[in-house]
Amino acid sequence: MTGDNFHMLSNPYIGVAWFHCPSCNAKDFISGFEWADTGEDVVAFRRRVRKYTPKLLRFFREGYVFWLAIALGVLTWLIAREFVQGDRLLFLKCMGGWIGAALAAFLVSEPLAARIDYRDHT
Ligand SMILES: [Zn+2]
Repeated sequence: MTGDNFHMLSNPYIGVAWFHCPSCNAKDFISGFEWADTGEDVVAFRRRVRKYTPKLLRFFREGYVFWLAIALGVLTWLIAREFVQGDRLLFLKCMGGWIGAALAAFLVSEPLAARIDYRDHT
């Protein structure tokens, strides 16, 4: 298997559902593949190597950042409403700012996560 294909299949942050193996010409969903050298199921491998992802990147990429944004949004709103009177959109503004930041982190982390090389962990 060539480098690019191997990289694509081994990185859990690159969405691959269906795969055409260039070595043996097999075509199947990735659940139908296992590594020739270790015999480990490809799907199990992708689940296992997530733990080698830098913590912050994982926090962004696996969506935990959105829970933090919601918590901060509520907290900001609780504080802000003590000082701001009569703004009916206050909750949305507080929430929107944090969710927007979380979304930016989620999107920016995508190409970074896709570059990680997990092939050493077979
Ligand atoms: Zn093959």
